[in-house]
Amino acid sequence: MKKIQMVDLKSQYDRIKDNVNASIQEVLDTTTYINGPQVQSFQKNLEEYLGAKHVIPCANGTDALQIAMMGLGLQPGDEVITADFTFAATVEVIALLQLTPVLVDVDADTFNISIDAIKKAITPKTKAIVPVHLFGQAANMEAVMALAKEHNLYVIEDNAQAIGASYKFADGSKKKAGVIGHVASTSFFPSKNLGCYGDGGAIFTNDDDLAHALRGIVNHGMYVRYHHDVVGVNSRLDSIQATILNAKLPLLDGYNDARQTAAEKYSAAFANHAHIITPTVKGDRDSHVFHQYTLRIINANRDALMQHLLDKGIPCAIYYPIALHSQKAYASARYNEADFPVTNQLVKEVISLPMHTELDDEQIKFITDSVLEFLK
Ligand SMILES: *Cc1c(COP(=O)(O)O)cnc(C)c1O
Repeated sequence: MKKIQMVDLKSQYDRIKDNVNASIQEVLDTTTYINGPQVQSFQKNLEEYLGAKHVIPCANGTDALQIAMMGLGLQPGDEVITADFTFAATVEVIALLQLTPVLVDVDADTFNISIDAIKKAITPKTKAIVPVHLFGQAANMEAVMALAKEHNLYVIEDNAQAIGASYKFADGSKKKAGVIGHVASTSFFPSKNLGCYGDGGAIFTNDDDLAHALRGIVNHGMYVRYHHDVVGVNSRLDSIQATILNAKLPLLDGYNDARQTAAEKYSAAFANHAHIITPTVKGDRDSHVFHQYTLRIINANRDALMQHLLDKGIPCAIYYPIALHSQKAYASARYNEADFPVTNQLVKEVISLPMHTELDDEQIKFITDSVLEFLK
């Protein structure tokens, strides 16, 4: 059996090596390292794929979130509501901009931000909601957008983990995750569903004025060369990363399909188990692109299971082991433990199994057998 990886970037690269190497060579030969034609073509290709009016490439997914918030003109003291159960980047940029992060609980079935918890957290100072499409499944965007409309709030989608996922509305219509809110961010970190070979990110919006503002902010606040109208940042996707992304974007749907297929095999093996809750997929198959395949282990020793898997050479991970409201950097007197029953439970129960585009049946069987032998 091939050695099991949490994310097998090498096998994926081997399948596209000739194409990717040739495209990188072209950048080297033309020396258009920054702002080359590859960046513009990737921008167009991604706009078309997502059905987004504007894609603004930038240096990474954390910058993308920060720049989105800068573009919306959020001011120090404005409250921004986001999920307590996510990667820290989401709350980090809120704090960095001296906005006030307001962490709220999530739903146990989807791991995504709780609509009831958002409702309770809205105050006259609230200016924005940042739903995170965690583990590859869009948050309940229909309800988020309705609340935002009612309270006149911006919605910034953190789409770092769900590129290519579709969100299905109650009337059956669909949109890609990341083109539903006012603005969205994504990351092309190597292990994300659409990963480059270094750092990369992008911001999406359908709003022409906001897109114009964002294009200046990513480039030192310049709209006319050497005229700095606003305080900006330097955040670029370089041409080598863009050309890699151009080579991989046409493969994204196939990559996501491979993840969905692996997830289905995992969930079939774990169905109706007394100690395992498998991931819930809302909508249909395209609604979840399984950036992570995350189980909840109930009435059993999650940490001992993890050690058992590691001992057998199966990588696995806890995403995320600590609630953000419990992190030193983000603790606040405004929080009560009683407001986070779900997140406080999830941090003790979750375990993520290997998930990538290269898992074969032999590996999946070894992983599921190993989990089941421990939890029998
Ligand atoms: C990866 C990730 C980010 C940050 O992306 P980087 O490109 O690493 O800066 C932000 N939010 C979430 C939910 C992520 O998973």
